[in-house]
Amino acid sequence: MKIMLITGGSRGIGAATARLAAKRGYAVAVNYTKNRAAADEVVAAINGEGGRAISVQGDVSIEDDVAAIFETVDEKLGTIDALVNNAGILDQAMRVDEMPASRLEKMFLINVIGSFLCAKHAVRRMSTRYGGKGGAIVNLSSAAARTGSPGDYVDYAATKGAIDSMTNGLGKEVAAEGVRVNAVRPGFIDTEIHTLSGVPDRIARTAPGVPMLRGGTADEVAPMILWLPSDEASYVTCSLFDVAGGR
Ligand code: NAP
Repeated sequence: MKIMLITGGSRGIGAATARLAAKRGYAVAVNYTKNRAAADEVVAAINGEGGRAISVQGDVSIEDDVAAIFETVDEKLGTIDALVNNAGILDQAMRVDEMPASRLEKMFLINVIGSFLCAKHAVRRMSTRYGGKGGAIVNLSSAAARTGSPGDYVDYAATKGAIDSMTNGLGKEVAAEGVRVNAVRPGFIDTEIHTLSGVPDRIARTAPGVPMLRGGTADEVAPMILWLPSDEASYVTCSLFDVAGGR
C-alpha cells in the first residue's frame, strides 16, 4: 500500500485529496493544526469505507512539529511515497501599503517555509541519495502566483510565486534521485479559506471574471493532485498545472 502525507488534509482541498487518495488505494496521513474534529471526520470516513487513514496534529511552520509529523507517519503507516504540501493560509483583503510585518511573517512562515520544511523531511526519506526508493511531492500553488492579486492579497500571491520557484528548483535538485516535484495552481475554489479571510462570498463575487463563469470545487482539484504522484505521470517533474476554469 502506498503512503501519502497531506498537510492541511482536514478541510477543503486537502480533505478532498485525502478522500480520493484513499479511494485510489493510498494509506493517508491527514495533518491538521487546530481543528481536530475536522481531521477526525475525514479519517473516520476513510476508515469507515475500508481505507486506511490516521490524523496527525502539527504546525508545518515549526520544524520540531514537522519532524514529529514525519516520525509519526513512519511509525504508524511507514515511509511515505507522496507528500502533498497543501497547508496554507490567506488573510484579510488589504493593500501592500497597509500590511503589518506580523502578517507578512506569518504568511511566508506557513505558506513558504512550511512547504520547504515538509519537502526537506520528505526528500530525506524518498531520495535515493538517502537510501530511499523515490517518491513524489505535490505543492499547492495558486493562480494568484500569475495574477498577483492586487488590492486583495499580494503577499499570498508572492508566497505562491515562491512555491512555483521551489517546485522548479527542488524538482531539478532531486530529479536524478527518484523524486518528482510538481505544483497545482487552483483558481477560486469554494472552501473555508475565503470565509476565514473575511470574504465568505468571494467565489460568487469573482465568478463573472472567470472564463467558465464559476468557482471550482475541492473535488475538481483533487484528481489533478492525485495524478501527479501516479505512474501515469512518471516523466513529469518541475511542472505547474492550472486548475482555474480558464482564469
Ligand atoms: P482551507 O479550507 O482553509 O484548509 C486549510 C487546511 O490547512 C486546514 O486543514 C488547516 O488545518 C490546515 N492548516 C492551516 N495552517 C496550517 C499549519 N500551519 N500547519 C498545518 N496545517 C495547517 O484551505 P483550502 O482552500 O483547502 O486551501 C488548501 C491549499 O490550496 C492552500 O495552500 C491554498 O493556498 C491553496 N489554494 C486554495 C485556493 C482556494 O480558492 N481555496 C486557491 C488556490 C490555492 P486547521 O483547520 O487545523 O487549521
